[in-house]
Amino acid sequence: MKTLSIINHDRTIFDKKYIYPVVSRRAGGLSLGINLNTNNACNWQCIYCEIPNLTRGKPEPIDINLLKKELYFWLEEIVHNNFLSKHTSPGTTFKDIAFSGNGEPTAAREFSEVTQVVVEAINDYKLVDQLTVRVITNGSNMTNKSVQKGWAAIQSIRKEVWFKIDSVMDDEIKLINQINSSLGVTKNNIEASLSVSPTIIQTCLIKMNGQLPSNKSINAYIAFLKHYEDRLSGIHLYSLARPSEQNISIEIERLTESELDQIADKIRVLNVPVYAYI
Ligand code: SF4
Repeated sequence: MKTLSIINHDRTIFDKKYIYPVVSRRAGGLSLGINLNTNNACNWQCIYCEIPNLTRGKPEPIDINLLKKELYFWLEEIVHNNFLSKHTSPGTTFKDIAFSGNGEPTAAREFSEVTQVVVEAINDYKLVDQLTVRVITNGSNMTNKSVQKGWAAIQSIRKEVWFKIDSVMDDEIKLINQINSSLGVTKNNIEASLSVSPTIIQTCLIKMNGQLPSNKSINAYIAFLKHYEDRLSGIHLYSLARPSEQNISIEIERLTESELDQIADKIRVLNVPVYAYI
């Protein structure tokens, strides 16, 4: 029997194109993931990204009918066919439907159509009080009209954005996320996110060439997030879970639990719940 755990995150163990179940520690139970990036394309190329054969670009067109069929298949399995007792450890509950694919989900042209399908399915299965819809994103498309339309569709549902900020220093953003961006752009995107949904910052911390994130970098991160502390729902800190699949010239390494905890303690100066996941 195929069993899911927080260790086994293999998205291919159940054979579907767009929707996959995982047990997620950060979600606190079973998460039904939606992968809109079946071509492994992202507009960023983070050096720690664990997606194999990642390319720059947009998702290929989404087959909405197939996605809907898969979503209803899994909901039927979970809600009516004992999926949890067959494939997860005792006590696991169904927590969320998460846009969490092999790339940036909001880059899909059909993002708003898919959110409508998700909302409809949640209503059909009477899961409004049980589930959260999570969008795990690098935040770069938050101000786009089509993405905002997706948020409008989702307003009646409990939701959360997990918004990636690994560093607020331009040189580190360029190095870690491999994009040319600025804090001004990040500010606009965070504001757009906060205006439509509870927002959690997700930050991947790594050692680069044996060096921990510098005090300068962490202090700048704290100073930046200070502006948003009253409106953020949380900060999730994590490190490498699996080796990077990217071809990079520097050496990157996972932080130890105590290294991550020490940084989390510094960040706890902010009036925002900070969670460290290792
Ligand atoms: S934003 Fe996410 S999917 Fe895109 S490269 Fe970075 S880690 Fe990978």
